[in-house]
Amino acid sequence: MLKYLLIAVVVIWLLYSPILRRARQLKRDRRTAAPTAAPGPAKAPQVEDMVACAHCGVHLPASEAFRDAVNRPYCSDVHRIAGPSARRSGS
Ligand SMILES: [Zn+2]
Repeated sequence: MLKYLLIAVVVIWLLYSPILRRARQLKRDRRTAAPTAAPGPAKAPQVEDMVACAHCGVHLPASEAFRDAVNRPYCSDVHRIAGPSARRSGS
């Protein structure tokens, strides 16, 4: 009987401990971050421009694009070296 009780306690502990740890961490994060933040309108979410790869047309954030000499965006260095596709270079 005691064995089952022990198993039940272990199972409950396993279920709750990650949740409690996370809640405690969130509380700590809020405490360290909050004092400097002034109450006011919420900041707009950061938006980043998306660009299409000049070779394959895949869209990616502008900051992650590989650029060639004339500043065309590419999804990867391989596509930058391959250059713009014939289909897309006309536009
Ligand atoms: Zn590409």
